Amino acid sequence: MSHKSRLDTDFTCTACRHHVPALAFGTRHRNHCPRCLWSRHLDEQPGDRRCPCAQPMEPIAIEVRRDGEWAIVHRCTGCNAIKTNRVAGDDHERALLALALRPIANPAFPLDDLRDPA
Ligand SMILES: [Zn+2]
Ligand SMILES: [Zn+2]
Repeated sequence: MSHKSRLDTDFTCTACRHHVPALAFGTRHRNHCPRCLWSRHLDEQPGDRRCPCAQPMEPIAIEVRRDGEWAIVHRCTGCNAIKTNRVAGDDHERALLALALRPIANPAFPLDDLRDPA
């Protein structure tokens, strides 16, 4: 049984309706939208497209890997699975930065008193 025809197909982003071409610079398995970075829960193993969940996956964080490469952490809105995905060469840099800066832009504690109390 071949899944080849379902691999590497264009898709329409579930979040922003952007039409996402399958082939992107810097990735073999385009699995997220370069504009808003939302993904879909389609893979059990990267690129296999065998997951029956198929719910949208929200980008929740940036992970910096040991070699310095960035990855996007996605959480499935259907089953809460957490996945990390390499950024693609055509991901919008502003969207990546906005995601990376989200906790800085919304600190959970005051930033104006970082002095050493001693
Ligand atoms: Zn999108
Ligand atoms: Zn899921």
